[in-house]
Amino acid sequence: MAEPIRLEVVTPDKMVLSEDVDIVVATGTEGEFGVLRNHIPFLTTLQEGELRYRKGGKLEYMAVTGGFAEVLPDKVTVLAEAAEHAREIDIDRAERARERAEKRLVDARREELDHIRAEAALKRALIRLKIARKIAEG
Ligand code: ATP
Repeated sequence: MAEPIRLEVVTPDKMVLSEDVDIVVATGTEGEFGVLRNHIPFLTTLQEGELRYRKGGKLEYMAVTGGFAEVLPDKVTVLAEAAEHAREIDIDRAERARERAEKRLVDARREELDHIRAEAALKRALIRLKIARKIAEG
């Protein structure tokens, strides 16, 4: 059995996760990447997406928004704007956020900043919905 690697997921509000895991797969801006212990160090920005990790044969999913990841041989640190375990995502809340963002995208057509904000909110909502539904469907 391979040695575990420490995974820490931190947001401005809290330490969301700090655990020894077998493998981490995250969504970088240049695509998905997987990390086992003793991986060569690197730093990457993240995009809204899935972060999954396996621990003792169990696969866990998280929704991660923005930020970056630092990979060291014995540790992966994810610094994100927001991160939620799939099972903690409130689907109704994310649906409401999606609807609000879609409406704002229509209303904000001419206001660039509002448009950018609404697009970011929509991406957050969509990734939360995707990941929450993925585990709901098994
Ligand atoms: P909302 O408009 O519903 O607040 P948001 O995208 O603006 O959504 P964020 O600013 O990204 O929310 O997050 C604020 C906090 O709420 C973070 O701690 C985030 O993890 C949490 N959060 C946001 N949406 C959900 C959700 N659908 N389920 C569980 N936690 C959520």
